[in-house]
Amino acid sequence: MPTRTKRKPAAIHPDLESVLYTEAQIKKRVRSIAQELKATYGDGEFTIVSLINGAIMFTADLMREIDNPVRLDCIRISSYGEKTKSVGTPQVVASLTLDILNRHVLIVDDILDTGKTLQLVAGLVRKLNPASLRSCVLLDKVGRREVDFEADFVGFKIPDKFVIGYGLDFAERYRNLPCIGVLNPARAK
Ligand code: 5GP
Ligand code: MG
Repeated sequence: MPTRTKRKPAAIHPDLESVLYTEAQIKKRVRSIAQELKATYGDGEFTIVSLINGAIMFTADLMREIDNPVRLDCIRISSYGEKTKSVGTPQVVASLTLDILNRHVLIVDDILDTGKTLQLVAGLVRKLNPASLRSCVLLDKVGRREVDFEADFVGFKIPDKFVIGYGLDFAERYRNLPCIGVLNPARAK
């Protein structure tokens, strides 16, 4: 029998201070969020409104865990620029293309921080008279809310740290990291 060699733990990316969630932990949680969605929507159809670019990985993985008929639309919101704190008022850069009148709508975003982005998008969607409106975020920085908005489905509650990976960027980089981690402050320059 060949001797089993222990696999080395994957090296942490040098620009990360720490890893909050590994690829495996994210996958497991995404799968359980899909079950929560199933419990809410049953077998019915719903329309996902994904906030790009940040929610791109989460949306793609979540959709593959869902066997309901789903439609997908994306909204692009102006981003932070190259900073690590929410500043100013978010603006819609590219809006919906699908008709959502009388449709069940689920807004999907990467992270809920001050709440301004989701409040803006929820307001915009609500004006179009959907049959129902819910929201789902992978991460929630609970202590940071500046407006009254809570998501219906939350993956992980996290502390007030600037996180990157799994779709989340710093200056448009790191979206491709398979894990979610805290950006090394020395890199946030
Ligand atoms: P809010 O409008 O709730 O303050 O911010 C939401 C948006 O800010 C998210 O969709 C995300 O794009 C960005 N954001 C908030 N916190 C973080 C973070 O820790 N890391 C990254 N990369 N983006 C964040
Ligand atoms: Mg975003």
